[in-house]
Amino acid sequence: MQKTLVMKFGGTSVGSAKALMNATQIIRDAKKDWTRIVVVTSAMAGVTNLLLDSARLPTDQIVGSVSDAESKLREKHFSAAEALIKNKSLLEETKKEINKLIEIFVNLCSAIQILGEASPRALDAVASLGERMSLRLLTAVVNESGIKAKGIESTEFIVTNSNFQNAHPDFLTTKEKTQALLNPILDEGNIVITTGFIGANVDGAVTTLGRGGSDYSAAIIGSVLPSDDVWIWTDVDGVMTTDPRIVSSAKTLSEISYGEIAELAYYGAKVLHPKTIRPVVEAGIGLRICNTFNPTHEGTRLIASRKKNGRVIKAVTAIQKQRLVTIEGRGMLGVPGVAARAFAAVASTKTSVPLITQASSEQSICFAVPAETADNVLSALEKTFAHEIEDDDIDRVWSTDDVSIVTVVGAGMKHTPGVAGKVFSQLGNNGVNVLAIAQGSSEVSISLVVDANDTENAVKALHELIVQ
Ligand code: ADP
Ligand code: ASP
Ligand code: MG
Repeated sequence: MQKTLVMKFGGTSVGSAKALMNATQIIRDAKKDWTRIVVVTSAMAGVTNLLLDSARLPTDQIVGSVSDAESKLREKHFSAAEALIKNKSLLEETKKEINKLIEIFVNLCSAIQILGEASPRALDAVASLGERMSLRLLTAVVNESGIKAKGIESTEFIVTNSNFQNAHPDFLTTKEKTQALLNPILDEGNIVITTGFIGANVDGAVTTLGRGGSDYSAAIIGSVLPSDDVWIWTDVDGVMTTDPRIVSSAKTLSEISYGEIAELAYYGAKVLHPKTIRPVVEAGIGLRICNTFNPTHEGTRLIASRKKNGRVIKAVTAIQKQRLVTIEGRGMLGVPGVAARAFAAVASTKTSVPLITQASSEQSICFAVPAETADNVLSALEKTFAHEIEDDDIDRVWSTDDVSIVTVVGAGMKHTPGVAGKVFSQLGNNGVNVLAIAQGSSEVSISLVVDANDTENAVKALHELIVQ
């Protein structure tokens, strides 16, 4: 039987000559067990930020920053290419193609500078260049190592709407195009290498799926091909009990359920983009998260549901740089539609709300939004409720300073009384004040809002509750 595998390599996993060598070896090993392989690559680590940082500067600073970025991009890609590609003409060709993309970057930035503004569409064109460069590099390196590989940009087959910077794929068209384009290449015994993160709208304009979106690309491709498995190669051993950058003793989880990973990813665990889960679950595809720098480790496998003897609290995560917005006033009591109008106002600013709490007295509505959107959200709310504010039915609309949402995740919490109590006493004992609470409706998570300065303490304290 033909077995199909989609493997995605993250930024660090293609971020240096050493990493690219590991990735190539991983591809070679996978070929022993899988007849059809699609590889999805991210931009080299740091490249997407480098590209966007220049394009987003005030226009009078763009020029200086671009020439600096240009040489960094060249040095990063060329040094890896020179270290790994011995075939002279392949090396020259690869460098030429990467150089062309760097020129596009320079031209796009100068257009932005002349126009005096960077539209979301222009920013997507800029951001897409990182993946387009690493595609050239990885394809050449893999070919050089003797593995037959064809590089193709995902803009050719991932069709999205025009919601630049956070585009949504049209799965039906994407399926047709992906199968029509990739199957013949795979059937000829090549592996396919493609770009993560990017697609194109029906007019062919490049779109991106949102930051960190290469994981999602792998899931989209896996679900439409379809593949049997999707493997996410990253720089840690899998999904861990918390971010190892916060708690160095964090442990890798060998299995995690759909519900648990969905909550973890949504509430800030960067290891997997939250949109990755739905396509693989719906298509019944296996998902594994594993370490490019420790490839013999089994990593983490996604499973349908929690085993009976699992831990109650399985992992802790945090989203930083949030603000709590509160609408309060005694006149809100019983007025129908306040919440609907409030959230419509928030939606009009295209802000997503990760957490909502409402006091049962209906005298206030409180929710979190990303800090950088808070000003926009407040003015939208003040506009929507101008009448109520004037009539003193709403006393005020305000937001806190920066806060973090800290979330404990574990499917076992559903059947275990007293978890919330333990969570609060643990935080209390560690001097962390809880500003707001929300329990996920799936009962797989409890989220707490804490002051930004308490984030690390809260994560560390709650991590101690995970019994190993
Ligand atoms: P990639 O470039 O491979 O996509 P990311 O940087 O996006 O990698 O995601 C991997 C990082 O996610 C890890 O290096 C780790 O610091 C962070 N992370 C946050 N929470 C977790 C967690 N619960 N388990 C594992 N890694 C986590
Ligand atoms: N390169 C993109 C980013 O930095 C996508 C990804 O790495 O997943 O957001
Ligand atoms: Mg990532």
